[in-house]
Amino acid sequence: MKYVENIQQVAELQPDYLGFIFYEKSPRNFEGVIPKLPKKIKKVGVFVNEYIEIVVSLLEEYQLEAVQLHGDETVDYIKQLKKYLPKVEIIKVFGIKNEFNFELLKPYEEIVDYFLFDTKGKERGGNGVVFDWQVLQNYKLTKPFFLSGGIGLEEVNELQSFFKRKEAEHCYAIDVNSKFETKSGVKSAEKLKKFKADSHKVSYMKFQPDNNGYYGQFGGAFIPELLYPNVKELEDNYIQIIESEFFQEEYKDLLKHYVGRPSPLYLAKRLSEKYGATIYLKREDLNHTGAHKVNNTIGQILIAKQLGKTKIIAETGAGQHGVATATVCALMGLECVVFMGETDIKRQAPNVARMKMLGAKVVPATSGSKTLKDATNEAIRYWIQHPDTYYLIGSVVGPHPYPDMVTRLQAVISEEMKVQLKEQTGKENPNTIIACVGGGSNAAGAFYHYLDDEEVELIAVEAAGLGVNSGESAATSQLGEVGVIHGSKTILMQDDYGQIVEPYSISAGLDYPGVGPLHAYLHETKRAKFMNATDKEALEAAYELTKIEGIIPALESAHALAVLPKMDLQKDQVVVVNLSGRGDKDLETYIKYLK
Ligand SMILES: *Cc1c(COP(=O)(O)O)cnc(C)c1O
Repeated sequence: MKYVENIQQVAELQPDYLGFIFYEKSPRNFEGVIPKLPKKIKKVGVFVNEYIEIVVSLLEEYQLEAVQLHGDETVDYIKQLKKYLPKVEIIKVFGIKNEFNFELLKPYEEIVDYFLFDTKGKERGGNGVVFDWQVLQNYKLTKPFFLSGGIGLEEVNELQSFFKRKEAEHCYAIDVNSKFETKSGVKSAEKLKKFKADSHKVSYMKFQPDNNGYYGQFGGAFIPELLYPNVKELEDNYIQIIESEFFQEEYKDLLKHYVGRPSPLYLAKRLSEKYGATIYLKREDLNHTGAHKVNNTIGQILIAKQLGKTKIIAETGAGQHGVATATVCALMGLECVVFMGETDIKRQAPNVARMKMLGAKVVPATSGSKTLKDATNEAIRYWIQHPDTYYLIGSVVGPHPYPDMVTRLQAVISEEMKVQLKEQTGKENPNTIIACVGGGSNAAGAFYHYLDDEEVELIAVEAAGLGVNSGESAATSQLGEVGVIHGSKTILMQDDYGQIVEPYSISAGLDYPGVGPLHAYLHETKRAKFMNATDKEALEAAYELTKIEGIIPALESAHALAVLPKMDLQKDQVVVVNLSGRGDKDLETYIKYLK
């Protein structure tokens, strides 16, 4: 970067780093003033074989947090530099043509923070040529690196496939330069914005959806033409909004002061003793409104507000998502309409009363079996007729971008888990995470930050109802086939004619005939292990937790607990069970079966 106005324009796009070249021979040599930048953006000084004293004085003058060393700087040189500036982040550049001897990097590994791989060319950087990334197959170190060299808008597709491959495992950042310039030292904010929008998902590995919302073969957006503008508006904006400082501040603030996060990570000693492992419970049951669902509704209501929407619609089965939606609408003073099957309205009177008290309008769905899927159909119909409304979906289902958006909003669960585990066990990673799956949002949130750590075992538990093969079950991964439901390609329970088979579970929240596309993919790739628990097993697990830990779990969460006796647990195995909700809402069922 070179010019104040351009720096400010680009800073608005929230890059992680902005670079300033201090190399007189470069047409981009920096001599100006750096305007005040948001704290999150690190300022990097780029140098080529510069005297250490000069590097130090420039870093101090401009308050730079990192250096990119583009010359032949040696390990000794870097050691010297660190003596003056122990905290500065060091990025050492290596130019790659068609092959490269990565052994040369070994001595640097200890002392640098990152490598940067650029195309070896006539100039020191800024040549505008891409090198063959396949070379990186030979990179066997674990030091994270920046990928650089002639990356522009045309490389987005290639980047996407690169990031699905093993050699991208340690790629930490993408460095862009000449391909985004309108002239030397001036970057096109417009092009960069497009690049960021197109490539936001490539900075992750295998389990991120591609630009069309596909996880492998699952996902996408199968929607009627009339909904397209609405869904597209959301797709174009959701990442930008979620990552903005404004959103993050408000979201984190509400999660802390309104929801009561972080939810505790509780070492269940007596449960651990019983099963011969170290078992932690992630206490989503302690959230305001009693389950994880509010993490999502708080996030989406802020997104809806950013998009200027004033009316919210939602579907609900047992009423849990309806209550969580009505709650945040009351909080924000927005109009709320909840669609609910007529049968469910009768079965779930307390939640219907809650929604009404919170000011929501509850509209009965009277078609089909008058349950969740009919309520969803009704909500979609209403949305088509009222495109100015925001449809707040309650799980990682629906057309792209909903599955990814809801996953990101629930990811706070595993984000906290990492910090809490580190505090309590000294390690961020447990051996095993267990979560129940209806649509899959609490599981997606509990798994998210561990998806690429393949040594962490992920267990998804579905409801087997009266037994997987009893005809009364919701074990989608066992019984389902590929098809489209509610705008997304996934696995779902269907008959020979493609008609949805009515699912059954004692727990209303798991009573869904599909799973979100991420879970279909986790199942297909075997990244997660799918287990199941029957009504009876879940009830027993709920009673057991209540008796030995004094915690009454939601029936859904009890399914996750119910697989503990079926596992071959080891004494030193650290297991986290995501306790998605509390059991107050299920008391009537519990009382009925009380022995
Ligand atoms: C709704 C609900 C679930 C199931 O939904 P997911 O999207 O699969 O998480 C699980 N547990 C509780 C407590 C719920 O309310």
